[in-house]
Amino acid sequence: MSEQLRKLTSLSRSCFDLAAADSGRESAMVKGGYLKMLLNGRCSFDCAYCGICRRENAPAFAPKELADLICSLWKENRITGLFLSTGIPRDCGESMDDLIEAATLMRRGGFTGYLHLKVVPGALRTDINEAARLANRISINLEAVSKDRLSEIASVKNYESDLLRRHAWVAEAAPGRHTTQIVVGAADETDGEILSFMHREYQRFAPASIYYSGLIPLPGTPLAGAKPANPARMRSLYAVDALVRDYGYSPDETTAALDEEGMLLPGDPKINAAGSVRIDPSSATREELIRVPGIGPKAAGQVISMRSAGRAVTEKMLREAGVVMKRAGAYLVVGGRVQERIG
Ligand code: SF4
Repeated sequence: MSEQLRKLTSLSRSCFDLAAADSGRESAMVKGGYLKMLLNGRCSFDCAYCGICRRENAPAFAPKELADLICSLWKENRITGLFLSTGIPRDCGESMDDLIEAATLMRRGGFTGYLHLKVVPGALRTDINEAARLANRISINLEAVSKDRLSEIASVKNYESDLLRRHAWVAEAAPGRHTTQIVVGAADETDGEILSFMHREYQRFAPASIYYSGLIPLPGTPLAGAKPANPARMRSLYAVDALVRDYGYSPDETTAALDEEGMLLPGDPKINAAGSVRIDPSSATREELIRVPGIGPKAAGQVISMRSAGRAVTEKMLREAGVVMKRAGAYLVVGGRVQERIG
């Protein structure tokens, strides 16, 4: 293996460490042709969950060196896209400049594949705009749900100026093409705090998605002895995220899925949020229908168009529309009759 490929492999692994699992959505190295890596594996920051902070002798690419390598991998059809982040060895401006220079040279060198650039904390607005111009997607990691929670796991980043202000610039520069991420389980935050964060995020910045990275306690980090994030917790958070982003659930509705300690109740958050509601599908609005467990946006749309076409709302019709009666039955009143859970 050439020295450059060895370095690339190491920086791709570091990126995986950095993301503290990245919720399993994107894994390290090349998956389906999508290479995920760091430009520079050195960082002077002190994020407690991060496996690369203050690592001695970590590898780094010069922007042109990486651009040439990516362009040749692209021309050889060995990659289809690139996620590029970086550690911050000295200052944020310099690291952002390097990312932009690398991306500019890649584009000039003929790399037309999908490019996701990570914006570093404290980046200049002009650099964020340039990153948005060069990349298909940009993102900035908020890492924690609030200023106080961030201060428990990172002392250098300023939540308001380095992250939130930059997040607003990212959202303006790349509407509909930006994402963010938090690490779950690193700062003892409750699910209730995460849900409040989630609602604020979607209302204020409208990210295409929020990534919830479950903490993996890495050896050699201050959180090495912490408990890893529970996979069931991560699944529930993603389920609530879908309810907020795709179904428009309000803060009050998602609060109904929490217990007294502010943690999500076991089981499906949609069922927990539904409580004992009963609706009549012959008159229910789309918003009412999609809140019923077993009825998704597609089935709700089908029920409404079949109703508009004059079809009587019966159990058979609901099944034809795609309603999962086994789940939905207990929440429906069909033809004046309360449905039982159908096994
Ligand atoms: S800023 Fe924090 S999370 Fe990012 S590379 Fe540096 S130490 Fe790791």
